[in-house]
This record gives sequence, structure tokens and C-alpha cells, in this order.
Amino acid sequence: MTLPTTRVSFPGGAVTGESTVLAVHPLGDGRWGVVTADTPFHPLDHTWPDQPADTGTLTVAEGGVELAVVDCLTGAVDPSNGELLVGADIPVRRGDEAWSWLVLHVLAEQAAGSADSAQSLVGRQVTLSVDAERRAALSAAHTGCHLLALALNAALAARWRKDPGRADAFGNPDFDSLAMASSVMDTEASTDVYRLGKSLRKKGFTAEAADDLPALAEALPAITTDVNERLAAWVAADAPVRIEVPGPELTARRRWHCELPAGPADIACGGTHLHRLGQLAALETELTLSADGTELTAVTRPKRS
Ligand SMILES: [Zn+2]
Repeated sequence: MTLPTTRVSFPGGAVTGESTVLAVHPLGDGRWGVVTADTPFHPLDHTWPDQPADTGTLTVAEGGVELAVVDCLTGAVDPSNGELLVGADIPVRRGDEAWSWLVLHVLAEQAAGSADSAQSLVGRQVTLSVDAERRAALSAAHTGCHLLALALNAALAARWRKDPGRADAFGNPDFDSLAMASSVMDTEASTDVYRLGKSLRKKGFTAEAADDLPALAEALPAITTDVNERLAAWVAADAPVRIEVPGPELTARRRWHCELPAGPADIACGGTHLHRLGQLAALETELTLSADGTELTAVTRPKRS
């Protein structure tokens, strides 16, 4: 199978589009993955699965049959044998240039009918429509996730006894990327888990009390207040957000940009985002430390206006 890498319009915020079905791939359990040349659907990334997939519908132009898209996955075609692999089965990192990278629109069991009727979609013109409400909620959570990273880096800057050699856009030690264990969004919040282990301590971070520094557990309420004040100020400033898109392909190396009052910030990102922080009424995080002190969790909830 030779297929071109899917061209995507979700980074610009699109939720609808038209395209041609290039292939229909069996996923087992009666489900099918529909590949189109272009799509507004954001698939779950197999390398860094932080933002859940879009859902929506796929409508066949002729006849107007509407099929539910219940999930959206990343597929990749192995250049050595033409085999299409899906999600966790893909053995290479996103963007490996020898492979083709595909958005698979997953049709529910029965939606596509028999194998023959599923395959009959190939070559047809379709209209792709993303569930815009779900997308908006996921975008708000994703934008909140990146802002939390910057606010947390600032609030924890005093806890570094030496320069870890990685700074964020504002010059603060990049606690977010150095300690990140997992980051997952849903339609309500972004949940970011940070590991405060030996390797972070070696890089210079301290959770212990020092001369002018309370222990992290003790300082947590003040750190939470500090982070939330920063988030509130950024939301109040209605800072514009955009995604820098070097090319239309799914695998293009995109970057999230936000014009914050202190200056521009940018973070590598494959997801979807708000256009302005004024689309939020509020953004608040809750920080908790595990009982053994080795894990810090931030649950960041956007309230959309
Ligand atoms: Zn991101």
C-alpha cells in the first residue's frame, strides 16, 4: 500500500473539511479506519498520546450517508513491505520520513457495514465534521496545560540550586519538561504528573527545606497561589495563541505560540488550541504531592467563557 502522509487542518482550528477516501483499513472487531487525503480530525498521537482523539461524522457526498467517527488514530505505512500499522504497533517515532503517516477515522462496528460496503468508500468524496464542542473543550484543556507549564516553572524557579541546563521561554529552569512523567487532557482538565526523583535532584532541584526555603510539601499552598495568580493574569490579558505550522502534513513540526504580557512563549506541540486566552473565563490548577513526596500532580481546569 502506498499512501501519502495525511494533510491536516486542525492546527489552524478547522472542524470541517472535504476530501477523497484513499483507503479503508480493517481494525478488527468490525471496525474500520478510513484514510482521506485531507482532514480536520486530530488523531491520538502514538508517540505522545496527550490529547484524546476528535470524534464526529463522515458524510458521503453522493447519497448523503452519514457515518459516525467514534475514534481517530495514527497509522503509518512501513516502507519496507507496505504494511499499515496502527497506534502502539508503530515501531518508529512520529515523523520518520521513510514512513507515510495517516489519520485513521474509526467507524464504529456496523456503521460501515460489510467488508464490501466499507471498501466501496474508496474513491468517494466525503465531508468530514468534527464534534466542535468536544474539540473546543480539548483545545481549552491543552492551552491550559502549556500555560500551567510556564507558570509552574516560574513558581518553582527558586527551588533549583544549580542551572539544570534547560530553560523555558522566560528563562526559568524548565521543571515541566525535566520532571514530566505524563500529561493527559480530557474535556474537563489537563492532568500533569511530575516525578521528583533522584535524577531531578541531581540536576539541581530540591524538594527539601533549606535556609530560606520551606520543604515543598509545606510550600505547596503558596506555590499553588503563585501559579494561579499567574494563570489568572494571563487569561485577563486575553493573550493571543497560534500554532506555527511549517507544512500541512500530519507530521510537520508544529509549535504553540502565546503572546504573554512578559513576552512571547513557544512550546513544541502536535495538538489543538484556543485562539485567545479571552476565550476562557478562568484557569485554575490544583497541586498535590504524593504521600512519599516523589510525585507532584497538577490538575488544571479551564472554565470557558
Ligand atoms: Zn501541546
